[in-house]
Amino acid sequence: MRSVCRPALALVLAGALAGPVRAQPARPRLVVVVMVDQMRADYLEQYGAAWTGGLRRLMDHGAWLVDARIPYIETFTCPGHATAGTGTYPHIHGMVLNRWYDAARGAIIDCTDDPGVTPVVHGPAAPDGRHARAGESARNLLALTLADQMKAHLTPAPRVVSLSVKARAAIDLAGHKPDVVVWFDGQRWVSSTAFTLRPLPWVEAFVRAHPPGAEAPTWKRLRPAATYLNADDAPEERPPFGWGRIFPHPIAGKGATALERWVNSPFSDAYLLDLALAALSELKLGQGPSTDFLALGFSSTDYVGHTFGPRSHELQDVLARLDLTVGKLLAALDAQVGPGRYVLALASDHGTSDVPEQTAGHDGGRVPAADVRAGVVRALTAELGPGSHLAALVENDIYLSPPARNALAAKAGALDRVRAAIRALPGVADVLDGRELKNPAQAKDPVRHAAALSYFPGRSGDLIMVHRREWLFGDLASNHGSPYDYDQRVPLLFLGARFKPGRRPGPASPADIAPTLGALVGVQLPRAEGQVHQEILAAP
Ligand SMILES: [Zn+2]
Repeated sequence: MRSVCRPALALVLAGALAGPVRAQPARPRLVVVVMVDQMRADYLEQYGAAWTGGLRRLMDHGAWLVDARIPYIETFTCPGHATAGTGTYPHIHGMVLNRWYDAARGAIIDCTDDPGVTPVVHGPAAPDGRHARAGESARNLLALTLADQMKAHLTPAPRVVSLSVKARAAIDLAGHKPDVVVWFDGQRWVSSTAFTLRPLPWVEAFVRAHPPGAEAPTWKRLRPAATYLNADDAPEERPPFGWGRIFPHPIAGKGATALERWVNSPFSDAYLLDLALAALSELKLGQGPSTDFLALGFSSTDYVGHTFGPRSHELQDVLARLDLTVGKLLAALDAQVGPGRYVLALASDHGTSDVPEQTAGHDGGRVPAADVRAGVVRALTAELGPGSHLAALVENDIYLSPPARNALAAKAGALDRVRAAIRALPGVADVLDGRELKNPAQAKDPVRHAAALSYFPGRSGDLIMVHRREWLFGDLASNHGSPYDYDQRVPLLFLGARFKPGRRPGPASPADIAPTLGALVGVQLPRAEGQVHQEILAAP
């Protein structure tokens, strides 16, 4: 009788004939997660033809999950990075918004706020001697990240490094026990006492040698103007910090404004990459006996998308430069870790809307932030009489004062009348009752299901507004935070010897990053809602 499969004997024979054979595939030496803040999936189709660097390499040689989508409604940075970091959605990881109303403190807090820690500053002290922000940590992140699980289960323990201009991006990707988490607080590269008690010497040396904002006095186009799509000077571009609507944009100048301009330019992305290359060299990531973890959050796309919009020359220029920046990262990984010895995932936390005034002939529009607030207050006052009924309004989330909540609950039909009044405001498609969103499995309607995935009791609002398609709340040129394609569809690409290249249709989400990369390093994410994409894994 012939045995169909004799793996043990085959291994012994192979070992005898060809030297030592590993029964298990070699673990990658480095796991890299790259998040690009506010990157719509259609940017790759619209603008990718002009790219020649790392983004192009990912599209041509990576496993590209072309239908990837964020399935929840509150498409913002903190939830998006926490989702990529943990493989769960906000109803589990708890990072529901960038900021939410904390009833116990009676204040709106940042998702990474932690009064129990203080900033650890790298480089010279801020000119005014004060920190731009309070201490920040992963205290509010209620699920473990892939990096946490690698740290807990791999031997020897990996090094975990996470870098971004934004604290919420760096911290959400790193998790609770990283070795290095560094972000820019508006003036300085910082960490906090949650992660390190002293400045990290290599970061200190890097920022002293490379003062932020000193790379270039002016942001000019990378390529000839004629190679950019659309008009440079388009309606309702809303450039910040005294910039005009057309190139070039000055960076140089003294004080905070120059740094704000720098953060809002592609130069902060390039700087972040150089800081990552310093980490690679200094810490020899991926060159030790374990599997290390490196996360990078690039933010310029978000700043520039909000102010100039997704069709602008400025956004195209940020992407063209990011293509080169990611190319530089891949070249460094090839040289220092080795091709085939690292795995990388690239995704985004959310997309963004078009600028309504630029897409003529459709039903879009905008409602200034003050008008949204006034409309909500009017609806509450009409039902409850004068008073402070609105505790806070954060993005789509309406937080009621406890007396208002009780009064609405006590009066038959009162809450429904308030919801109807808010639903009648411009740009509002629906108003959901948070109490009906506690179980995503019970929410059959797609929008309610998406809202339930975003809902966390005590952090989400009492009422959640749903935008009408292509309608914005607030004063930015373009914004996100809706359940529509332009906010939910994002790129998702994997690169490395363990991935089969090619475009793959089918359901996918940034929540799949942690479980899929985890499978390659032998680490499970017990609460993951994302899936392991077996179909893109190559045989070892
Ligand atoms: Zn944004």
